[in-house]
Amino acid sequence: MSAPTAPDIGTYCTTLIEVTSNSRVSAGTPASPERRDFIREIVAADVREGRVSEVVTRFPPEPNGYLHLGHSKAIALNFGIAQEFGGRCHLRFDDTNPIGEEQEYIDSIQEDIRWLGFDWGEHLYFASDYFHQLYDWAVHLIKAGKAYVDDLSADKIREHRGTLTEPGKNSPWRDRSIDENLNLFERMRAGEFPDGARVLRAKIDMASPNINMRDPVLYRILHATHPRTGDEWCIYPLYDFAHGQSDAIEGITHSLCTLEFEDHRPLYDWLIENLPVPSRPHQYEFARLNFTYTVLSKRFLRRLVSEGHVRGWDDPRMPTLSALRRRGFPPEGLRNFLDMVSLGGRGTSAAEIEMLEHEVRDVLNRRALRRFAVLRPLRLVIENYPEGQIEEVEAVNNPEDPSAGTRKVPFARELWIERDDFMEDPPSKFFRLAPGREVRLRCAYFVTCTDVVKDASGEIVELRCAYDPETRGGDAPDGRRPKATLHWLSSEHAVPAQVRMYDRLFTRPDPGADGDLYADLNPNSETVLQECLVEPALTELPVGETVQFERLGYFCPDPDSTPGRLVFNRTLGLRDTWAKLQARAARP
Ligand code: ATP
Ligand code: MG
Repeated sequence: MSAPTAPDIGTYCTTLIEVTSNSRVSAGTPASPERRDFIREIVAADVREGRVSEVVTRFPPEPNGYLHLGHSKAIALNFGIAQEFGGRCHLRFDDTNPIGEEQEYIDSIQEDIRWLGFDWGEHLYFASDYFHQLYDWAVHLIKAGKAYVDDLSADKIREHRGTLTEPGKNSPWRDRSIDENLNLFERMRAGEFPDGARVLRAKIDMASPNINMRDPVLYRILHATHPRTGDEWCIYPLYDFAHGQSDAIEGITHSLCTLEFEDHRPLYDWLIENLPVPSRPHQYEFARLNFTYTVLSKRFLRRLVSEGHVRGWDDPRMPTLSALRRRGFPPEGLRNFLDMVSLGGRGTSAAEIEMLEHEVRDVLNRRALRRFAVLRPLRLVIENYPEGQIEEVEAVNNPEDPSAGTRKVPFARELWIERDDFMEDPPSKFFRLAPGREVRLRCAYFVTCTDVVKDASGEIVELRCAYDPETRGGDAPDGRRPKATLHWLSSEHAVPAQVRMYDRLFTRPDPGADGDLYADLNPNSETVLQECLVEPALTELPVGETVQFERLGYFCPDPDSTPGRLVFNRTLGLRDTWAKLQARAARP
């Protein structure tokens, strides 16, 4: 049985993000069989040539933070391949470092993967479940003369490691007897030594051109309570020792990870070949996903939370999956985006965030119900409309989807319109309401502004208008057509709401390029509008359902909403900047 080998990734594409529109799969269906990338080619060949009977992949998050957009690529890849090849994908928590790992993260990670639309079924595992087996395998290596206990400090070990151009130096403890190593390792486990006093290292080759092969550390002493194993252990395996062996225990066939682990692959293989593991997994590497205007590093995101730059991991400005959910992104939009990003490519270029937003808008445009809301209200009184009269006008719920039906919206003499929709002295390109001008009120009547009421400070507080009763429903019998159509709410029926408007968290596409991420944080990433009003139908909208506020953008109720106080998040504005970017790129 020969090992499948990964072709040179560099040959697959030249930039990190390559849009392959023919690989697009339709929403909700499994990827079409013609979907091809170098990893799927390898998996298909392994199946075809009988090296693998069932494809088994895994998604291995460390529970030390919330999942972010980068993780979604690894999730879609691992779960997607398992689905497409009729195999299975495990969720395995890589919980080998108890410091910073928490139950809150274990829970949120599961919720977020499900939200994205993937399921591990009964295959939920924890690397910590294998601590006993891993310990036995460490003993196996010691007995085979392939691992030793080193007393050098972390600094000394680094000094001895050498550099890319110079070989490393052997540790003075490298040639301890097997018995001494067994004895010391057992005493490490028994808690006899303080943190950092000793480590267990593989005995490979201090002159290897690959620094990962220069006697890598396998176990370290850490007197820390683990979220699952409590105080049972005070030595913990390092990622390199835990990962491949966990893969082998679970029968993983294709262990997919990001490119920074490519240089670890020889160590992955060395351990698998030198241990009596039950199966032979293989590691393949793909490119990380990054975005413009975004930082995807759990460590930095954790600092944003702990230092109060955002309200939490699920603050809608964050690039975490929990935040995108809270902000109202439909998971289908993210999946559609992920279907288009390539796996190969090196370099540091990032996907344009506008492209993700484009996919999200595409889904929302098809699905989102249309509703009326006024963010910055200005009173409008129709002087010739009967006092006390209320009409119900019929409004279409979604022009893209006739099956969404219509609803009744109350119309009356006193209305709210958007302050931005009126100008007392309009410039030539402003077609909305102005003194003496007629506009259409959506689904209702034409109105003409007859007077402007101001307060003592000169601020406009009210518009006086006249309506044309012949224009009910929004059409004039004489065929005249106002240049603008405005949204509106009946003052008596409008429901107050707070609306949180979001802008990008960073001011530049490449945050931190000048060396300071904090300096690039956008001080205006959130604007809270307190005086908004929405149509009555919105009081019943469940959290998580995104609607279009007509002419304003996509919005969804925030979990901070209470029956007496509605809170909405702006998911996205209406303007598709990705389409613009593409048009610009197409210009010669
Ligand atoms: P971070 O660098 O943000 O702290 P991590 O790689 O340490 O992330 P893990 O929990 O170890 O986070 O990641 C789980 C899986 O997700 C790994 O297989 C990892 O390769 C993958 N992954 C993490 N970040 C990205 C990314 N930006 N693009 C693609 N895959 C990613
Ligand atoms: Mg990691």
